[in-house]
This record gives sequence, structure tokens and C-alpha cells, in this order.
Amino acid sequence: MSRVYNFSAGPAVLPEEVLKEAAEEMLDYQGCGMSVMEMSHRSKVYDKIIKDAEQDLRDLMNIPDNYKVLFLQGGASQQFAMIPMNLMKNKKAGYIVTGQWAKKAFQEAKIYGEAVKLASSEDQTFSYIPDCSDLDIPEDLDYVYICENNTIYGTKYKELPNTKGHVLVADVSSCFLSEPVDVSKYGVIYGGVQKNVGPAGVVIVIIREDLITEDTLPGTPTMLKYKTHADNDSLYNTPPCYGIYMCGKVFKWLKKMGGLAAMKEHNEEKAKILYDFLDQSKMFKGTVVEKDRSLMNVPFVTGNEELDAKFVKEATAAGFVNLKGHRTVGGMRASIYNAMPKEGVLKLVEFMKKFEEENA
Ligand SMILES: *Cc1c(COP(=O)(O)O)cnc(C)c1O
Repeated sequence: MSRVYNFSAGPAVLPEEVLKEAAEEMLDYQGCGMSVMEMSHRSKVYDKIIKDAEQDLRDLMNIPDNYKVLFLQGGASQQFAMIPMNLMKNKKAGYIVTGQWAKKAFQEAKIYGEAVKLASSEDQTFSYIPDCSDLDIPEDLDYVYICENNTIYGTKYKELPNTKGHVLVADVSSCFLSEPVDVSKYGVIYGGVQKNVGPAGVVIVIIREDLITEDTLPGTPTMLKYKTHADNDSLYNTPPCYGIYMCGKVFKWLKKMGGLAAMKEHNEEKAKILYDFLDQSKMFKGTVVEKDRSLMNVPFVTGNEELDAKFVKEATAAGFVNLKGHRTVGGMRASIYNAMPKEGVLKLVEFMKKFEEENA
């Protein structure tokens, strides 16, 4: 068996330890004679899996008691619709457009009501986060929406926007559990788990209880009401059982690693290795304004498309895979999520140095 260094933006690298544990439990989960994939979601055994997962997530993120944790399906993209359907009481919401995912959410919201673009960084290919300390925010907005870490462009809010008292909704798909957060500052935090937490197929929604109501937009399907899932502890219908089990394992791994404060340190250390190299390199350049750089997704270019392609090809052959940048940005992107070991980043930088010398 040989494992590569996988820099994919998502689905992405998972902790090897977690994968091995899952492999060991594949045929017989803790003596019950079947795989987690094969058991009823209403069984006692599974109930403990989902309850433990929720509790471990609550511990890790310090989630206050007045927030519900929902394990849902449909990916992060389904939340682009679920959020307005459930929260747009005045049919008006504000969106800060800092990349493709925020833009998709903004466009989806327009189907349900008035979506106001409060700020955008599209003028410079989303390479920065706009100043959101004093935005012109209409009084009657139902919420202010952000994408906190922009997976494609590699930017991250280092400070949350001043919403002037409005509910903050954040897509944290690609920075989920990468550092401590103050949940109480948000109305809704959600993320698809395939970036930093688990296998694709699960989206986790952390939502303040007062935002969960019967009063959804007319025509909202039962399955798309937060209340349906909140009232049934994410077991209204069959949940993505195996995915939730894997997320639970990652939560336990994170606890063992020292929790989110330790993860932040680890992530800062890894990102610094790569950014420091980029800052001194004569060939490779980071594409993001320094103060807004993500710890998770690091896009970079050589400025020469042919050289970019050559780099990606040779890196792949050397065991550093999925480094090709998003089709809308070009160049390269190294996603260095929680489960990417420091060794992987050190070796990537070593490889980049060698490539630079050979192609100078
Ligand atoms: C990947 C990603 C999405 C889309 O996730 P799906 O689960 O594929 O719908 C949305 N937002 C962000 C920030 C992402 O990184």
C-alpha cells in the first residue's frame, strides 16, 4: 500500500488513523456482527454513534445549548436554498460575495426573495476580503450571509463582518474545525463535511433555536425545513449513517489531537511553511492579499501556463496529487486541511524548490 500526499480541495484527505479504524470495524462493528452501513438507523448501536458524534462536536466547538446540531444531506449547495426558505421572513437578505460559492448562494437566494449584494471582491478575481466593518446594511434584512473561507480563491475572513445586529449565516465548509470559533456570533454555521471533516454526503448545520420555526416560505418541502430535522434529532428519515459515523471518528481524532486550539496552531505552522516559501520564491507566487490568506487553501501560480502544467504533472508523478488550481483561476492550489501532515507540506516545498532550481 502506498498513500500519496493528497492536496485535493474536496473530497479531501482524512486522518489515516481514522481510515484504519474504520477498516478494522468494517465487517463487525464492536461485536454487533455487521457493518455500520448495514444497521438500522433506529438501532441502539447507531443511536449511540450519532449521539456521540453530536456531543463530541459540541465539545470541540463549545456549542451553546440554545443551538441545534443537524446532520443533513444535499451537500453545502442545498443550504443555498434551505437558508432563504427557512430564514427569509421579510424576503430580503444581504450577501457578501467573495467567491464562487458565495455567488452561487447569492444567486439561489434571488429565487426566494430580494438578495442584496452588500459587498464583493469580484473586481479583483476574489483575491481579497472586502472591508466589512461598516457596510451599508438595510434595516429590514433577515440575515447577512458570508462564505467564511473561500475554497477556490484561498481567502478567509480574519474578522467577521459587522452585521449591525442582523443574524449572521456562514458557510464554513472549507474551514470547518480548523480553528476555534465563537458559535454565539452566528445564527447559522454550516458546512459540507467533505473538505475538512468526513466523507461527502453529509452537511452539518449548527443553528440557533429561535431561527427554527414553522414559518417557512410557502411551498417549502418537509425535508427542507430545519424544524423537521431539529424535532427529530436528524432522524426524520434515514440519515447518511455511514458518513456521520466517519465524522464522529474525526471528531474523536480532533479531541485526541488537542482540540481546535491545537489544530489552529498546527494549521498555522503548516501554512507558514508554504507561504514563507512562496514569498521568497522567484518562480511561484501566491495569488491572495497577504492579510486575507486562508490556512486551508493556498492558490499559487508561476505566471506561465506551460510551466504550471509541467509542475502539476511532475508533482503528480512524485506523489503530490490534486495540485491543479480550480478551472476558473488556473495555476495551482494546495489544500492543506487538518488531516494533511506537516511532513506533506515540508516535502511539497522541498519539491517546489527543486523544480524551481531545475527550471530557472
Ligand atoms: C465545496 C464547497 C461547497 C459545495 O459543496 P457541496 O457539498 O458539493 O454542495 C460550498 N461551499 C464551499 C465553501 C465549498 O468549499
